[in-house]
Amino acid sequence: MGAAYAAQRNDDAGPSAHVAVSRLSPWLRHRLLTEDEVIAAAHKAHGPGLSKKFVQEVLWRTYWKGWLEQRPRVWQDYQADLASLLPGTADEVATVAAGRTGIACMDAWASELVETGYLHNHARMWFASIWCFTLRLPWQCGADLFLRHLRDADAASNTLSWRWVGGLQTRGKHYVARAENIARFTGGRFNPVGELNEAPAPLPPTTLEPLKPLAFPSAPPAGKVALLLHEDDLLPETLPLGPSHVVAIGGFASPAARSPLGCPSLAADWTNGALTDGLRRASHHFNVPARRITDIARWAEATACKIVVTPYAPVGWTADRLTTIEGQLAARGIRLHRILRPWDYDRWPHAKAGFFAFSEAVSHAEFNTSKTQVSIEPD
Ligand SMILES: Cc1cc2nc3c(=O)[nH]c(=O)nc-3n(C[C@H](O)[C@H](O)[C@H](O)COP(=O)(O)OP(=O)(O)OC[C@H]3O[C@@H](n4cnc5c(N)ncnc54)[C@H](O)[C@@H]3O)c2cc1C
Repeated sequence: MGAAYAAQRNDDAGPSAHVAVSRLSPWLRHRLLTEDEVIAAAHKAHGPGLSKKFVQEVLWRTYWKGWLEQRPRVWQDYQADLASLLPGTADEVATVAAGRTGIACMDAWASELVETGYLHNHARMWFASIWCFTLRLPWQCGADLFLRHLRDADAASNTLSWRWVGGLQTRGKHYVARAENIARFTGGRFNPVGELNEAPAPLPPTTLEPLKPLAFPSAPPAGKVALLLHEDDLLPETLPLGPSHVVAIGGFASPAARSPLGCPSLAADWTNGALTDGLRRASHHFNVPARRITDIARWAEATACKIVVTPYAPVGWTADRLTTIEGQLAARGIRLHRILRPWDYDRWPHAKAGFFAFSEAVSHAEFNTSKTQVSIEPD
């Protein structure tokens, strides 16, 4: 997290040698660890100066979430485009996923992705760039391949990083993978000289919706509640529940909902295991039995609670599912109340434009919310 990270974080030394990066993303993505925890650990170990680069990278996660939260149509459009593009690209996508493009670095990264559920950040950038500009495949299908296989699969970081590589996030600025850069940062493992399109145009621009105002939930309700855990936030011990008194706990995870093509077992098992772990800790923490549930409305009714609280899920497949669940609960006279963490409440509003403005703003802001309670007005 300190000087070594800043100096070597771009080196992709291969699947068995990712020693200069943390590989914490599956834990951060599922909030088994929170951003503030890892940033505090980095500050403690190295001080704010030497850990600055690492902290900046962690803030990218917060930034992408806040950005997508204010432009949810980007996620909806991605899903709609994907549904129409997948049938016509199935053979090409299968060729890349099977590591049979004939471009040695692409084939190795595809194998690493499928076999380990992880890729180094630099490899993700090169992979996405070669996918879009050399193989000329639709970015949405590449983003889908990542979502299906990554253990850290995340709607915001993935969709927006693919758009960033294509030049859709920062208008006209695309990321071009170059043989020389790949050779340098892979320590000469690969040198695809003459194999890549190194002078592509960015992808054709798309129109962005106007910023959608953030609609934050009100303070947690008082009294008895049922707690519904999900894969986007599995650290119930630090959820700012205020006066809510948890009397029942259930949880769900829908890894297959990441993609119309589902989710292979390596990544799905990881998510399901994370949910099991979250439920076990929640049960211990609140001293209430906890279990995985499929029929959420029926479970909620059986708890006799009029309110189900759940961690806020940012734009993505879990949030989509929660919208459906909210309707089913409402039909039974039960309210779904989302709990937003102060970290998100404080920082997401700053994710309106580019990352560097965001990072400046959140690094220098004095936030009023405490670590445990979101202090906002009720609805
Ligand atoms: C095309 C593409 C797709 C991506 N898809 C995902 C995804 O689905 N899920 C996901 O979590 N990340 C995604 N990323 C971001 C990034 O590649 C991973 O978070 C990072 O490589 C995880 O490895 P690490 O934990 O070893 O990172 P480290 O280098 O150790 O970084 C520490 C932490 O900072 C955060 N972070 C680092 N780089 C980024 C970044 N560029 N964007 C957002 N957060 C970052 C992560 O939480 C990470 O765990 C994608 C990047 C690209 C270019």
